[in-house]
Amino acid sequence: MSGRDGFVVRCPGKVNLHLEVLGRRPDGYHELRTLFAAVGVWDELKFAVAPAGVLELSVEPSGVVPTGDENLVVRAAKVLTEGSGRARGARIHLKKGIPIAGGMGGGSADAAATLLGLSALWDLDLDIATLLELGSGIGADVPFFLIGGSAWGTGRGTELVPLPDLPAWWVVLLPGKEAVSTAAVYRALRAGPVDERPQSEVYQWIERGGEAPFHACRNDLETTVLAQWPGVARRLAAIRGTLPLLALLSGSGGTVFGLYSDRTAAERASAALASHAPVIAPLLTREASRVRPSGEDIRWKLPRFGST
Ligand code: ATP
Repeated sequence: MSGRDGFVVRCPGKVNLHLEVLGRRPDGYHELRTLFAAVGVWDELKFAVAPAGVLELSVEPSGVVPTGDENLVVRAAKVLTEGSGRARGARIHLKKGIPIAGGMGGGSADAAATLLGLSALWDLDLDIATLLELGSGIGADVPFFLIGGSAWGTGRGTELVPLPDLPAWWVVLLPGKEAVSTAAVYRALRAGPVDERPQSEVYQWIERGGEAPFHACRNDLETTVLAQWPGVARRLAAIRGTLPLLALLSGSGGTVFGLYSDRTAAERASAALASHAPVIAPLLTREASRVRPSGEDIRWKLPRFGST
């Protein structure tokens, strides 16, 4: 496909190396403190021009996610057409590689890729502040995927501090087959009003460096999820058996992950977890996680984030 007619982009998934819920806000959302890290499992989106008013989405494997307005790709495309005030058209093909409903932010990653992809396809020239605002209206994880690498998220997870790249750690992911609904998890969570406690040890580490305080990394959704989805609890116990640096639920699960110092350690753990269909992946630098087209001949302007 030539750059003029369309192009293909890849977008990665994420894990949360820490997820604290400070409480429920008066607006009903939960106030979070979370450490996002992009990981090398990928979705692929192909964008092609179409006559004005045509917006078509196809998905591979067929049927794994809806192709109508519920799909975050379609939501992102509509947000852009409504915002630009001009009828435009696109055909989009989405190839899923990121586990679905697994807490790895796949739908949000696709939405971020769509905002960037269609901005390029339609030559919209939107600045990053606008994209971040549009993204946060689509889903709480979308802004992170516009930034990539690792980032500290506050508020609903949409207010972000981009962080310097983490060490070249690897993860072993156990996605599982059950779909864990993020909305159901938050509904079941017993959260009081927001407790503005001091910044956690994890944030202090991010600010000051030194040894990572893995003992302080946690996921406040874990108890709620494990109580309702015993399969997730079994996978977490299995991962812990491989003695990783850290073993947690990603987001609201059901994917669990173990973090390892390097690829060799991750491969060893993965071999021990073979019966759980493990996936191994590196944490990604900001540069490696950048949503970008695969062809070189395409004009593609991407937002930059300072020197990190
Ligand atoms: P979240 O935490 O935002 O619920 P998640 O990371 O757990 O998401 P996703 O794979 O993003 O999981 O999707 C959750 C739900 O969103 C699925 O049930 C799916 O039907 C719907 N969805 C909408 N658009 C997409 C998409 N592009 N890719 C995957 N799922 C999508």
